[in-house]
Amino acid sequence: MNSFLDTDIKFLKGVGDKRAKLLETELEISTFGDLLYTFPYRYVDTSRFYKISEFSGEMPSVQVLGRFVGFTTEGEGLRQRLKASFYDGKRFMEVVWFSKLNFFKTAYQPGVTYILFGKPTLYRDIWQMAHPEVSAYDASRPPEGFRGVYSIPDKLRKRGYSTRLLSDLAKNLFANARIKEVEETIPTEIMSRYSLMPLLEALSNLHFPQSPDKLRKARERMKFEELYYLQLHILRYSRERGRRIKGHVLGKIGDYFNTYYKRFIPFELTGAQKRVLHEIRDDMRTGRQMNRLLQGDVGSGKTMVAFMTMLMGVDNGFQCAIMAPTEILAGQHYETIRKWGESIGLRVELLTGSTRTKARREIHEGLVSGDIDIIVGTHALLEDNVQFRNLGITVIDEQHRFGVAQRAKMWKKSSIAPHVLVMTATPIPRTLAMTVYGDLDVSVIDELPPGRKPVQTFLKFDNARMEVNRLINRELQEGRQVYIVYPLVKENPKLELKSVEEGIERVRGMFPNVKVCMVHGQMKPAEKDYQMDQFVSGEARILVATTVIEVGVNVPNASVMLIENAERFGLSQLHQLRGRVGRGADHSYCILMTKHNIAGDTRKRLSIMTETSDGFLISEADMKMRGPGDMEGTQQSGIAFNLKIANLASDGQILNVARQAAEAVLNAHPELVEAPACGVERYEGERLALSEASVAMVRKELRIRFSKTYDWSQIS
Ligand code: ADP
Ligand code: MG
Repeated sequence: MNSFLDTDIKFLKGVGDKRAKLLETELEISTFGDLLYTFPYRYVDTSRFYKISEFSGEMPSVQVLGRFVGFTTEGEGLRQRLKASFYDGKRFMEVVWFSKLNFFKTAYQPGVTYILFGKPTLYRDIWQMAHPEVSAYDASRPPEGFRGVYSIPDKLRKRGYSTRLLSDLAKNLFANARIKEVEETIPTEIMSRYSLMPLLEALSNLHFPQSPDKLRKARERMKFEELYYLQLHILRYSRERGRRIKGHVLGKIGDYFNTYYKRFIPFELTGAQKRVLHEIRDDMRTGRQMNRLLQGDVGSGKTMVAFMTMLMGVDNGFQCAIMAPTEILAGQHYETIRKWGESIGLRVELLTGSTRTKARREIHEGLVSGDIDIIVGTHALLEDNVQFRNLGITVIDEQHRFGVAQRAKMWKKSSIAPHVLVMTATPIPRTLAMTVYGDLDVSVIDELPPGRKPVQTFLKFDNARMEVNRLINRELQEGRQVYIVYPLVKENPKLELKSVEEGIERVRGMFPNVKVCMVHGQMKPAEKDYQMDQFVSGEARILVATTVIEVGVNVPNASVMLIENAERFGLSQLHQLRGRVGRGADHSYCILMTKHNIAGDTRKRLSIMTETSDGFLISEADMKMRGPGDMEGTQQSGIAFNLKIANLASDGQILNVARQAAEAVLNAHPELVEAPACGVERYEGERLALSEASVAMVRKELRIRFSKTYDWSQIS
């Protein structure tokens, strides 16, 4: 016999062959289980009646109480429609039907009070409802209270079906005695620890909520379930990898670290930097391979954390590598790290695509012999002929510029995979990080070094051009430098957007006394580097560019970031661009130029920029506005964002609890990780022990949910 959930929908009371076909094709409901898991997409409080005078354009479907006062048919043939006036005692609105006109014409009587339920729209200054649900008002019947509304495709709607169809069928489903066969999917131990609603009760409340509170608990349970299994799946994978892959044991903090820290460090570390260094240290001494994502806003001091991490490697006799996505960035890191390293006698070298043959040979030798302690570089480090004596740590800056395969290559450069620290200045909300980079441990630098002056940010329209130019002139006169960013390289007649190529001419005209340079993505790398150097060295005072300057460039003397057509950029991009200034000057400015008539979301997005400089707040706002799937840095993730019920943007708290639960279960049940242990496995923390039956339940759910295997190599 089929299980209850797998039963063909045609056997449900009220369905039959014809409807079964319709349900299948229009709603993808072909079994009892499908119907059970087809939830209302929203809920209405049908105990409340709205007045027509309260209507507004953004309202969902609402209830009104009143009478029909006359029907008229308009139009010809297919365009024929039926209209009625509906009076709520104070005002009139229009009700429109486009099909089944003859039926509706005689279905309702004048003088009888009806409840209409539908979405008000304003059409030629008159409030309308099209094909509302209509029911006779019965004063003796108690208000229904909360009620779900199912999404009904147009095709069904035109045939006269409404949300009622599904709620009636769901009612029949719950009336079926066999509904009790639906099996719980969360072990009782977890349900009781986290006070979760049992599955069947939750399903019932999702279809027929007993109260707003019960509905909330029902949803919470379903979201928890979804997130719990997802986290369990992700964690299980990362622990599996932990077992398979041994890491170097970097047990000691030695002379290099201590000497540097006590005698040479140029500033006091922030609390966040110290905390992160502790987290890193704890990782690297366990014998597990570290895979850690370090998130920190621009200017939060990730480079120093990287350097001190590498000192831990050197202290234990290992070489370290730090890799940056561009030559300019690699060059800047090299300058910084060589200076820091010199003070304690470390040999630091730079290897990029433009390193000369002779120097390159020496570097190759130095790496093989172990003479070089720290190598800074670009993709050039990945080449096969770059070999190490003993590579212990790889730091990757600005991870989203590196492909996955490239990162994997770095692992192969030593017999034991090096510890990996991935750094990014594109903060993504923790909830998203836990899922997208679920198998990476995440550290966050959530504090800027003291004394930073926030960048003043203005939103300006084209008509304020003179004012903006005056500000730029003033800064130039004070010896400062200026970035001007455009969305396009070349003019495109179809888009009314500004471009670098016409921009540079205008900028040269407006500021004739200073040197202007230009970079964009269509340039040859050598040319780009040359132009960039002009700006970094201070010879050029204005840099006209596309977003290629987004990543990590450090010119502390720059005090103005002017972004043309700012409406064309995403929030995280704008934030990154703004991070280029405010690194030295006493005052710095970010000016977002837009055309005059921006509205809605665009305006909101740009206002967020003027209101906060906190990268995490900005990325949360971004995620709320765009949805988690569109966030930068998530697209390349192997995990499809096919969460059905939970929403990473708004369910962060539930996710945290679900993650804890998953960790606690795995701590108590390492047997859920299906790999032979060969590395070191030691997980401290909370434990949640399950009965044998519960473990079996968990295994089964994992199998059902994740039978399709992901390409996990895409995730780290
Ligand atoms: P990012 O995180 O964007 O890579 P950097 O590492 O480039 O930031 O740091 C930005 C600047 O702040 C650098 O000039 C760096 O030397 C300085 N800095 C880093 N940490 C501190 C600190 N604790 N106190 C003062 N200045 C710091
Ligand atoms: Mg940096």
